[in-house]
Amino acid sequence: MQIEKIDIGIIGAGPAGLSAGLALAMNGHKPIIFEEHSVVGIPVQCGEGISDKVFLDFPILKDNRGFLLRKFKNTKIYFPGNYAVFGDTHAYMIMRDKFDQFLAKHVERSGGRILTNSRVIDVTEKKGGVQIEIEKEGKRQLFLSSILLIAEGPKANIAKKLGFETPEMIRALEYRIQGEFSDTMEFYFDNEKYPFGYCWIFPRKEETNVGIVTTAKNRKEILDNFLKERNISGKIIKKIGGAIPKKGIVKRLATEKIALLGDTGGFANPLFYGGIRNAMFSGKIVADIINMQLKNREKIDLRIFEKEVRKHPFTSEISIKCHNYFYTSSVKFQEKIGKLFNETYINRIENKEILKYLLKLATNPTLIKNPRKLYLLYKGFKLARDYGF
Ligand SMILES: Cc1cc2nc3c(=O)[nH]c(=O)nc-3n(C[C@H](O)[C@H](O)[C@H](O)COP(=O)(O)OP(=O)(O)OC[C@H]3O[C@@H](n4cnc5c(N)ncnc54)[C@H](O)[C@@H]3O)c2cc1C
Repeated sequence: MQIEKIDIGIIGAGPAGLSAGLALAMNGHKPIIFEEHSVVGIPVQCGEGISDKVFLDFPILKDNRGFLLRKFKNTKIYFPGNYAVFGDTHAYMIMRDKFDQFLAKHVERSGGRILTNSRVIDVTEKKGGVQIEIEKEGKRQLFLSSILLIAEGPKANIAKKLGFETPEMIRALEYRIQGEFSDTMEFYFDNEKYPFGYCWIFPRKEETNVGIVTTAKNRKEILDNFLKERNISGKIIKKIGGAIPKKGIVKRLATEKIALLGDTGGFANPLFYGGIRNAMFSGKIVADIINMQLKNREKIDLRIFEKEVRKHPFTSEISIKCHNYFYTSSVKFQEKIGKLFNETYINRIENKEILKYLLKLATNPTLIKNPRKLYLLYKGFKLARDYGF
């Protein structure tokens, strides 16, 4: 079989692979993205809510309104007892298929290639690079790439084959329902009802995505009950499900020639489990490293990716600690947090008001027992708000 020599191979045309491809192609390189599906962005497996922080790394997204459904100015976070804490979170509702397709169009316009219907079936590290074997329309093809970025999503089959640790996952289930049932992004936390997760209501236009992410096995039953409790009775027009990284990035993210991006590397926020922004962050960081090494005519070594990633507040241990603490705390505790900040824009609390909350805390033995943990909670939510979720 003939081997085509390439410089940069990328497995997967999701947000991680596409953003790496885009940032490389825009710098004059010619990455090739292998995608097993026939159309980029389909099937959609996403709640379609994204933080506006994606625009920081990819200003090109700002110019497009084709994939945007609506802009949210705030978020409501519900706690047990129906207490709602508000936040000025700037986020968007997108059409995820159109979003991925927009990125793909710009990869190609900038000189990258996307090979659809091309499933990577094997990868072998060789002396001259990484050999990639694909199956396209029933035929096998071989490529020899100087470097390989693995952005194959949560399945992480190729990464596993190469001996990388795969991230711990949590499962999500979502219905797209006719009708609008909210005007903000809504999250419903309750550690008894939705262990290690939450239910969400994200309105599109004339339709709403309602979903659950949890470790509970009977998530369908729980989600159906949630719909009943919220009196959501529109027609379900689509059901999707999938896995999301649960507790942050894996221990080893790269070798000299290979790096793991997006869900494959565990890049999702450990509190809200959003993965688009984090996947794109991983793609941008690795592309910046490659662009720099090629510009300086250095030997490509992707091991620095790990170090660069861990420098960022995104991957801070605080988020994991916050995950561990928040998702193992009692419903009573969650209720008290909700009550304390009920109907408050948490980010707008000014210095003079802090005293009021400290006083309320002082009279609440359950909350005041462990101030360090409370601080962790504050930091974890703040990180998600400031850097994207
Ligand atoms: C139900 C649900 C709701 C979610 N809601 C949100 C949300 O509202 N906001 C948010 O930010 N995140 C959400 N997420 C998480 C988010 O969708 C992912 O974190 C994000 O898609 C990760 O991007 P990625 O590029 O790493 O992987 P993916 O988007 O999974 O892309 C991987 C790509 O690789 C391709 N591929 C896989 N194997 C191969 C192979 N061997 N050869 C060739 N191609 C291959 C796949 O076809 C796919 O196109 C949700 C997840 C689920 C399951």
